[in-house]
Formats: sequence, C-alpha cells, structure tokens
Amino acid sequence: MKDSKKNTKVIILLGPPGAGKGTQAELLTEKFGFFLWETSDIIGRIIEQAGKGEFIEIQGKKYFFEEQAEKRKQGLIWDGCFIFYLSKKKIEELAKKEKGIALSGSPRNLEEGKYLIPLLKKLYGTKNIVVIALKLTPKATVWRNSRRRECELATHSILYTKETEKLTKCPLDGSWLMRREDDNLKIIKKRLMEYKKKTFPLFLFFKKQGLKVIKINGEQSVADVFQDILKKLKKNNLHNC
Ligand SMILES: [Zn+2]
Repeated sequence: MKDSKKNTKVIILLGPPGAGKGTQAELLTEKFGFFLWETSDIIGRIIEQAGKGEFIEIQGKKYFFEEQAEKRKQGLIWDGCFIFYLSKKKIEELAKKEKGIALSGSPRNLEEGKYLIPLLKKLYGTKNIVVIALKLTPKATVWRNSRRRECELATHSILYTKETEKLTKCPLDGSWLMRREDDNLKIIKKRLMEYKKKTFPLFLFFKKQGLKVIKINGEQSVADVFQDILKKLKKNNLHNC
C-alpha cells in the first residue's frame, strides 16, 4: 500500500472565476484517471437537496443549508468549516481506494484550507500534492464570466473562448447553451472580490505548508493551458499521476 500511495496525486486547481479550473480539472481527470472533485457540484447538490430549516452543528455552531444557498446566490464563498465537514468522509474514502483527485473549488478560503490541507497531507503525503495556479487578470475574469454559458440538460459550464464563441449547443450532450443565472456584472465583481480577499491568501498558506505551486497563464486557449500544465508537471517529475 505504501508504494502505490507514493504515486497517487492530488492536484488543486486555483484561480479567479473564469480561469478554467473546472475545465482543466476535467481534462486532468480524463488523462490520469483522477476523481473529479468539483466543489460547486458535489457540495452544491447537497445544499440544494437539504430540507427547509436543515442545519449541521459543528463545534457548537449551527450552519443552515439555506444560508449557504443564499451566499452562493450573492456571489459569496461558502463557510470553509461547513464545506470541509461535508467533504471529509468522501475524501477519506477516495484515499482509501488510492484514487488521485483533481480539486476544483476547494479549498476556497483559509478556513477550509486549514482543515483540508493537513488531511490531504496525512492521506496522500506532502510531495504528492500539487497546486496549479491559473492566472487571469481581473479584466479577463469579468469579460469571460459575463459571457459564460451553461447547457440546459446537465449545466455543463462553457467558458467563453475563441474555441467556444460560436457554439450554440453543448459539445457533451447536444442540449442548448444558456447564460448562467448568477452571471450578472454585480455578482461577477462580487465573486472576484471574494477571490482576492478570501482565496488569494491561500497561496502563502500553501507555501508555508510546503506544497508545490505551479503557475500557469490562464489567458491562453483551453488546449494550450492544458499542454502547459502537462509540460510543467513533467518538468517537476509529477507526470506519473
Ligand atoms: Zn451539457
């Protein structure tokens, strides 16, 4: 078990809204057979399915699912402690099966990071955790997000890029593409502010935790970003995921 554990990787994708974290996580998942961890999907589903007035109590504090749902609508980040509580069991199960993970959307703030990173280090080992920082200017973030679309059937998120601008139907299931409900300018700016204020400080934290951080220019096309990621993983001897 120890030997195979040596090669099981966890890749954390971090970047502002619209940097293509989810898309790259999907591509990495396909290439390396990872488990695709999309926090907005996995946790979003749990939050949506919760009943009225339902809450979980963590260390004496009540977290209401409705409050978290409301946060998302306003472009705010979910409470880290709450997200970690809902994620922990599944992550432990994946580690037990020695399954690699591509994380998109976790951790999102220091609170979540302070729980999640020590757990991942314990389960996978520090040297097997790689952070991929997708860099995108605030201007590009706003531009991309205000044009982002989602498919009708499975809410696949379609980034606005040169390759996708002419698409009218989802490349995965053929259903119509629509604008995302939460993508109005006010919400986009709020999400960007949240990223700067709450997500960005994680980079310093990762450094202190001894994690490898790989920087990638997120303004390239999806394919070029992916090639860049593969190249840098290889250069750092991290290719054998
Ligand atoms: Zn679709």
